[in-house]
Formats: sequence, C-alpha cells, structure tokens
Amino acid sequence: MNLLKRKFIKFICISITSSIFPVQFLVAEAKKIINPNLSDEQKNIMFNEGTERPFSSKLLKEKRKGFYHCANCGNKLFASNAKFDSGTGWPSFSESLPGAFKTKVDYSFGMKRIEYHCAKCGAHHGHVFNDGPKESGKRFCSNGLCLIFKPE
Ligand SMILES: [Zn+2]
Repeated sequence: MNLLKRKFIKFICISITSSIFPVQFLVAEAKKIINPNLSDEQKNIMFNEGTERPFSSKLLKEKRKGFYHCANCGNKLFASNAKFDSGTGWPSFSESLPGAFKTKVDYSFGMKRIEYHCAKCGAHHGHVFNDGPKESGKRFCSNGLCLIFKPE
C-alpha cells in the first residue's frame, strides 16, 4: 500500500471515531478511563472538570467507618474519620490520604481555586479550600459521584 493511500485510510478512521464519540470523551481517554462502567455524568466530572448538583450525593449521609476510593481506578483517597458535614451540599473531607491526589491551580469562573486530581489515574475529583475544620484547616470539596465508599 502506498503512503498516500495509508494516510487517507487513517484520516477516514479518525473522522469516523470523532463522529461516534463526543470530543471530551476522546480527551478523557488520554487521561486514562480505567472503569468501563462509568456513567456519562461521572466521565463529565472526572475528565471534563464538571461538578455534580449540590445535595445530590448519596454519600452526604454516609457516616460508617471505611474508606473512599476513586470511582475510576479504585485508588484509596479518604478515610471516613476525615469526613465532615460542611453544609455545602458536597461530601467534604478535612484531609486526604497521603499521596492520594495531585493539585493544580484552576482559574475558571474568574476564581483562583486549587483543584485536585487522583494521583493514579488523573481523574478530577473537586477543589480544596482553606476554610476547613480540625488541625488541617482544609476542606476537600468532593464530587460524590467520583467516589466509591467501602465500609470497613
Ligand atoms: Zn483514580
């Protein structure tokens, strides 16, 4: 097969792929979707920096002992003893487990916020603020849809 023909076939394949999958999901693939069962809403939060509706998470009422894991890759992120009721409508934690996240400055919506990503798969989880309780003074404002709770 000559080079021109090969390039043409490649072009056709890319065009077909782009028309089947929305663009953000193609970007998402680069950030490693590990769990094939993620919903569109989960993908939008984790790979398109989306945010779930406040007071929509089932985890707001979760009070059992255990650990919160990344819904994409299973990385252990928070311990239940760091969870507190912030009243914001999103599951909130005063600290993460060591090395669970990487942070990045986010300037969207005209605000300077620190967003945190799973250190293992790169998925976006939420923003961390300096108005938290306890010794850490941190408030990890998490999207419940990105978390899986495993009771002890
Ligand atoms: Zn992860």
